[in-house]
Parts: sequence; C-alpha cells; structure tokens
Amino acid sequence: MLSLNKLINKLVKGKSGSDGRRSADPVIIPREEHSISRKQISQNALNVLYTLKDAGYEAYLVGGCVRDLLLGHEPKDFDVATNALPEQVHKLFRRSRLIGRRFKLVHVHFGRDVIEVATFRAPPEENNHVDEQGRIVQDNVYGNLEQDAWRRDFTVNALYYNIRDFSIVDYTGGIQDLNAGLIRLIGDVETRYREDPVRMLRALRFVAKLGLKLDKNTEAGIFQLASLLKDIPPARLFDETLKLYLTGNAAVTHELLCHYGLFDEMYPQTAALLHQEKDGYPRTLLMKALENTDKRIDDDKPVTPAFLFAALLWEPVRQRAQLLMENGMPDITAMQRASSEVIIEQVQRVAVPKRFSLVTRDIWNLQPRLIKRQGKRAFRSLLHPKFRAGYDFLALRAESGEPFTELVAWWTEFQQASATQQQKMVDSLGGEGTGKKPRRRRRRRPAAKNVQKDS
Ligand code: ATP
Ligand code: MG
Repeated sequence: MLSLNKLINKLVKGKSGSDGRRSADPVIIPREEHSISRKQISQNALNVLYTLKDAGYEAYLVGGCVRDLLLGHEPKDFDVATNALPEQVHKLFRRSRLIGRRFKLVHVHFGRDVIEVATFRAPPEENNHVDEQGRIVQDNVYGNLEQDAWRRDFTVNALYYNIRDFSIVDYTGGIQDLNAGLIRLIGDVETRYREDPVRMLRALRFVAKLGLKLDKNTEAGIFQLASLLKDIPPARLFDETLKLYLTGNAAVTHELLCHYGLFDEMYPQTAALLHQEKDGYPRTLLMKALENTDKRIDDDKPVTPAFLFAALLWEPVRQRAQLLMENGMPDITAMQRASSEVIIEQVQRVAVPKRFSLVTRDIWNLQPRLIKRQGKRAFRSLLHPKFRAGYDFLALRAESGEPFTELVAWWTEFQQASATQQQKMVDSLGGEGTGKKPRRRRRRRPAAKNVQKDS
C-alpha cells in the first residue's frame, strides 16, 4: 500500500519518476571551477580511468572519493563508474577479477591496492525490484549515468568526476548540499530508507566523519524508521559496525547512533542498560574505550574488533555475571555463563564471527582470573594468549571507576619483573590474592540464658 507521504509526493511532483525524481540536465562544473586536480588522484585510479576512456567507454570517479576530495579530505579509496559491462572491463585489465553474484563488479588489482569498477545501474522499479516493505531485493539492472546518479544514497555521494574533460557532473544537487554542509537523501525519504535501511547508519557515519549536518527530512526519517534495521541481515550489520566503530570516529558516531535510536536496534542488551544509567559507569567505560580506539587509529596503531565488542557488551555481561554470583555461582563460572548468554543473544542482531567473539570471551573470562594471583595463578594468567587484552580491559575498568587501580599497578609491575621478583610479589600477597573475601571468624554467641525457646 502506498503511504500517505508517498502519495502526496507523487501528486505534488507530477510527472517525475517513481520517487519524485525529476529528469533534468545535470549541472556541469568545469575543471577551472572546482578544486580536484589529477595530482590528488591515485595513479592506479587514473590508469583505470584512462584505459576505459581509451577503449571508448565513459569513465568517472564517483562516490566517497569525489566527495572527500571536494571537502579537502584524503579519500579512503577510489571507485570508478562506467558504461562498460563487467565482462568488458574484465577483458581490459589483466589483473582484474569479477566479483559479486547478484550484481557484478570488477576489482582491478595493483599489488595490494584495488580499484573497484562498477557498471552504471538503474534505480529499482517499485513493482519489480522491491518487496512488500519497500526493501530492494533486486538491483541488478544496468542503466546510464543519470540513472546511476539517482539510485545512489545521498546527493553528496552522487558526484562524478569525468576523466574526459576533468569536469564534475551533478544530477542531484550534491554540489549545493556540499557547500551548505548537508547530507541529504536523494528522492523521497521514506521510500529510500525502506529500500535500504542501512542508509540510516550511513547517514550518521558521514555526519560523524565529515562534520556535515543532516537535512531536516533526512533526519526526521531516521527517528521515524529506525526500527526497520531489525530486518537487516546480521552479517551486514556486523560489517556496518566495523565501519561505524573502527574508522576513527567511533565516539561521535556512537553518540549519534544512541541519539537517533539506531544503537537500540543493533545492541538492545547494552542500550537498555545505557538508558537506565545515562552518565554512569557503563557509558563512561564505553566512551573511554571508543576514544582510545579513535586515538589508536589516529596514531596508525592496530585495533581489534574483539576488544571493541568486549567494551560494547561489557555491561550486560557484567550485570548478568553479578546476578549469577549472587545466586551462588562461583565467579569464573558465572563470567563464562554470562559471556555465552550475551553473545548468543547479540549474534541474532549483529553476526560477530566466532574468530572475534572467542577472543572477546577470553577478555571477559580473564577478568575474574586476574584478581586471583596466588600460587601458580598469576603465572598461568600471564601465559594466556589473550593476557594483554585482558589486562588492558582491566585497566579500562579501573579508569572508568571500578576499584582496580592497585590491581592494575600490580600487574603492570609483574609483567616487567624478573622471575625471582615475580615469585616474591606472589609470596607477599598473603591472603589478598585469592580473590576471596577474607574469612571472618565467627564469634560464638554466649548461650542466651533468658531467651525463651518457643516464644
Ligand atoms: P567511504 O568514505 O566510507 O568509503 P563512500 O561514500 O565511498 O564512503 P562506499 O560504501 O564506499 O561509501 O560506497 C560508494 C558509493 O556507493 C557511495 O558514495 C554511494 O554513492 C553508493 N552507495 C553505497 N551504499 C549505498 C546504498 N546503501 N544505497 C545507495 N547507494 C549506495
Ligand atoms: Mg568508498
């Protein structure tokens, strides 16, 4: 059924396409009027563009790279769009691979660098290519440049750099939006979010990354349609999580995801607890972890998804383990049980692969073990393959307000100490390194003389 919004849009926009898209001549910005120079484009991308052009095809840079260059950022990678069919592209480049089953793309390899070449696509047709919810189920129809522009997500992502004359081609008003600092969905907001709800996540990622603002309707649509994320396959949400949280803007992105209710859809267990305690320990720990991650990326240090998930899901694990312990379960067993339960529930939304979630569990399971250091225990923990991550996580907990500052200092010293010093450190722990509460001797009460037994 057509929603009221869509119906109004159709009536108001008259003869335009299915989503209110108008066919019109593009705005062409000639080379002298924009800032993109070939010096800023990778040699490999230029090589692909020229080869396509020399073979008689249209060839453009498109998407994030054009947007980022115009904003003065260094692009992450260079994507190419062309009217050549995938097989034709494949034939032109010796080191290229056809990828994708439903929609074929060509990857042209230059050592470790890959240039992605996509054939122009047409927007989905309402009757043939979307399901009852409006979600795209088929998008493998080739098209021309103009159609390719309208099927893209945001106006700032639909700018084309033409290798023929170095001009920029703009069908959707992307240049104007870029100048105004706006992320605007192309076409009717509801239709486009329904076609692919991941566009909501992408919108927030670009806000965080580029410091642009959401256009009013693009923003309102997210509040209204956040729950559509429920239907996105968990494997795709895992990929998106990595783009959202491991590309250098995790702290800002996370705040945005929470504000617009998208975090709730992806991480409901954590979101529920963050809502209960807006500025308490769980939020502090997560924000510190995200700020550290951003800093590591900024410093070109490696980051691991396992640690990210340990932080993202810690509060539900911690609380569940606590509850199990209150019911008499020993701490290590409680942590193992809580870890499993939280992961099992989470992967139904975001499919964290085992190779990461096993390490995430190791990090959590090391937490109670790091408290117990007597006998051979500290030595055993130190040999654990994930000790370093477990120790870093303990340090994060201490920084976030848990009473572990001394424990962290102990482990810092222990790691650097010689074998004899280590033994001394363990020996001098006395009763405090067992992790057990010191036993209190019960004083025997003197037999109460005056108490009546059966009162
Ligand atoms: P990044 O800097 O993160 O790479 P990007 O805009 O290049 O940003 P990509 O995921 O590499 O993002 O996608 C390349 C281009 O493909 C986008 O700029 C956009 O034009 C188009 N695109 C990607 N995802 C979608 C989508 N879900 N719906 C419509 N168009 C999309
Ligand atoms: Mg890209």
